[in-house]
Amino acid sequence: MPPVHEFDLIARIRQRAAARGDVVLGIGDDCALLLPPPGMQLAVTMDALNAGVHFPPETAPADIGWKALAVNLSDLAAMGAQPAWGTLSLSLPQGDPGFVDAFFDGFFALAAQHGFALVGGDTTRGPLSIAITAHGLVEPGRALRRDGARVGDDIWVSGTLGDAAGALRQWQAGAAMSPALQARLDRPTPRVALGRALRGIASSCIDVSDGLLADLAHLCRASGVGAEVDVDALPASAALRNAFDPDTRRVLQAAGGDDYELCFTAAPAQRAALRQLSATLALSLSCIGSVTAGTGVRCDGVAAGAGGYQHFA
Ligand code: ADP
Ligand code: MG
Repeated sequence: MPPVHEFDLIARIRQRAAARGDVVLGIGDDCALLLPPPGMQLAVTMDALNAGVHFPPETAPADIGWKALAVNLSDLAAMGAQPAWGTLSLSLPQGDPGFVDAFFDGFFALAAQHGFALVGGDTTRGPLSIAITAHGLVEPGRALRRDGARVGDDIWVSGTLGDAAGALRQWQAGAAMSPALQARLDRPTPRVALGRALRGIASSCIDVSDGLLADLAHLCRASGVGAEVDVDALPASAALRNAFDPDTRRVLQAAGGDDYELCFTAAPAQRAALRQLSATLALSLSCIGSVTAGTGVRCDGVAAGAGGYQHFA
């Protein structure tokens, strides 16, 4: 398809944007007008994705659209917030309507799953880059924060770790990516239902974007505690086990990144509730260690501070 003008691209986006009752005015004016439900807090986050930095340049446009939204919804999930609305800044090398249509196939597929409305944005020419601001709703005082972990809490993680990093490792080596691993790299699943359900159960929470040990270290610093992690308790998919030797696999799980799972702490008294929640959501929840007095994350007896994964590796 030949390149088109910015306004034609915006018109294509606007046609596809879903409505929501609390969107008074969506795409088309100088601002969107939104009517937040009375008494709710807004959770606001922003993440940008740059070609070649956050995804391989040959990533399919629909996967880029999915992932750009997924990483933002993952931040809302980590706070226990319900996704609501967002804005999107799109920098494109050319006004290629084929790219834009495919990008929004992925974007709106994920948005529809969470009732998330795109209410505005900006479209410019430049290197391929996507920045999204996402807003979610959470009851006052009930957001999951990084600073609530207490000594003696269990440390939990959802799903499996290291899959996306495993795919990236295969791609960097010039090998074919295992389909199951590539799916986790290109189409991460934001754990929104889990985050909502953890309100009142978890004492603290963070989403795993930079690698488990590094992100857990952020949580520990915010909470003023340390952590002891059992590397053998870290959950691995069958695909990851098949693709890598145990030593490589453990490094990918502990330090890989791009997982978009939730890592959270909870008092031991919550174990039964969490096993029940795991069954209800059909999502594995693994207890991987415990919160300790002091500072830093210990894994395999190795003290790992700010750059946890480097010490581990
Ligand atoms: P202005 O110059 O007033 O900022 P724009 O021409 O940039 O307006 O945008 C026109 C309308 O289209 C605005 O409502 C804006 O929010 C929306 N818009 C522009 N780009 C995007 C995009 N990539 N995604 C969603 N909405 C967009
Ligand atoms: Mg503008």
